[in-house]
Amino acid sequence: MSDPVSCLAAYAVSEANSRGRRHPEPAPAARGEYQRDRDRVVHSTAFRRLEYKTQVFVNHEGDLFRTRLTHSIEVAQIARTLARAMRLNEDLAEAIALAHDLGHTPFGHAGQDALNACMREHGGFEHNLQSLRIVDLLEERYGGFDGLNLTYETREGILKHCAPKKARELGELGRRFIEGTQPSLEAQLCNLADEIGYNNHDVDDGLRSGLIQVEQLDEAGIWARHAAETRRAYPSIGGRRLIHETVRRMINSLAVDLIEETRRNMTAAGVETIDDVRQAGPLAAFSQAMHAEHTELKQFLRLHLYQHYQVLRMTSKARRIIGDLFDALMEDPRLLPPQYQQMAHADKPRAIADYVAGMTDRYAIREHRRLFAVGEI
Ligand code: MG
Repeated sequence: MSDPVSCLAAYAVSEANSRGRRHPEPAPAARGEYQRDRDRVVHSTAFRRLEYKTQVFVNHEGDLFRTRLTHSIEVAQIARTLARAMRLNEDLAEAIALAHDLGHTPFGHAGQDALNACMREHGGFEHNLQSLRIVDLLEERYGGFDGLNLTYETREGILKHCAPKKARELGELGRRFIEGTQPSLEAQLCNLADEIGYNNHDVDDGLRSGLIQVEQLDEAGIWARHAAETRRAYPSIGGRRLIHETVRRMINSLAVDLIEETRRNMTAAGVETIDDVRQAGPLAAFSQAMHAEHTELKQFLRLHLYQHYQVLRMTSKARRIIGDLFDALMEDPRLLPPQYQQMAHADKPRAIADYVAGMTDRYAIREHRRLFAVGEI
């Protein structure tokens, strides 16, 4: 099944210029190859687990906060918009976006930092590499191969960054980190769609939680500008409606700016084909002014939300839970479920990291209770 080639630009990824799958498979009967990638991600176990993994707020703290699943869906929405506006491969952008956070541990970045510290002597832990490990190895769904056997281009998009030492172990996929070439525009834009997604929904969730206030947000220029615009359009607006009108304007202005600046960069670099994309410097970018505003918003969130004492209390508990689980399992790997015990014969720390990273927030909390609380089984 071929792409709807007529709408794709020459600088887009298409099935005609794909580097294919690691294990050759017959072409899908009623879908494109990147649709198939997207569908495989959606049907994976790791994808379903995203529903119960923290973005900033722990899953059980409230029903309305983002989880990794809703975050991934929002990123896919933004990525599709960007891709369609630029005549890029929308299915590929969607597949990358839906897969981009599969490797996240429970408890957000606190969980990843804790697991990375546990794995310091054993090759480290990085969620980006873990996402790749899930789609290449850990998902058990097909008779003929481990993982999901995704196309090269989706895997390339999942691997956003990689240290040169690791890159050498990854063969063709790692080569760009050594040679300094770029991934597809679909991949580059997904990366920024992720940033647009989390900055904006963290504003929304932060306000909803009461940890930050609307008045404080006026410190951040991008919020102040769009909130003022909203109030001009609807003088009596307030409450939730003001927040949502402002957030949607911020998302839209970031997306439009990103498209325009990326087009400018492509023109300046003379990019016409997918090969030009890979050889040019990074093309997907915000304008300088928007980049500054976006960075200011990120700093605001770091200071007032991610480092809020109530969030820190949660992250410190999360760190302890991950550390305790890892240590207990290292000390006695017989406590692992049988499938992971099998894997532990080859590489104990990595098997434990895979097990812990795959946990949802509440599974990790329960497992901690099961292993440490007297009277629990
Ligand atoms: Mg993300």
